[in-house]
Amino acid sequence: MNKRSILLISHGHFDNNSLEIIADDITHEFLHPVELGESHLDLNEYYDPTRRQYDGNKLLKFLDSVSKPNSLKTIGLFGVDLFIPILTYIFGQAIFNGRTGIASIYRLKNEQYGLIKDDDLLLDRFRKVVIHELGHTFGLVHCYVPSCVMRSSTYIEDIDQKKIFLCNKCRTQVESSSHIY
Ligand SMILES: [Zn+2]
Ligand SMILES: [Zn+2]
Repeated sequence: MNKRSILLISHGHFDNNSLEIIADDITHEFLHPVELGESHLDLNEYYDPTRRQYDGNKLLKFLDSVSKPNSLKTIGLFGVDLFIPILTYIFGQAIFNGRTGIASIYRLKNEQYGLIKDDDLLLDRFRKVVIHELGHTFGLVHCYVPSCVMRSSTYIEDIDQKKIFLCNKCRTQVESSSHIY
């Protein structure tokens, strides 16, 4: 593939098998190769002691400022609890039509909701959040097709109700804009 790469940068440990699956999803949906990387960024300065969570806006802004100009998009993967001021928590967020997004696995864990740990379900949820945030960087807005990954998700149940993939309408939109990349 003679195309620019999408970078997936782990902040904290994610198992390689999961990362490879997510990378395959991305290439399948957005038709670009994926490169995996790791960051050792000190997250302490993004920690808000009052909320006991990490500031998603600051992290997104920082990642965007250091994203490599030769890569098409950068998605930062996190294990910590992210927030933005107007919301209790976020699964992820991205710069609309931009180059950068973030996604966290923290609120996707069954254990957060008093349920039994389920690694397969956790990976499914994380795949959806990553594809969703990347979709925003490709200019996709929230979609009303119930199964579309671009449907908005406030609660974990919302994520479970949609599929990992883009609906035909969203896919067509990505493909028709892809000549500019
Ligand atoms: Zn969204
Ligand atoms: Zn859609």
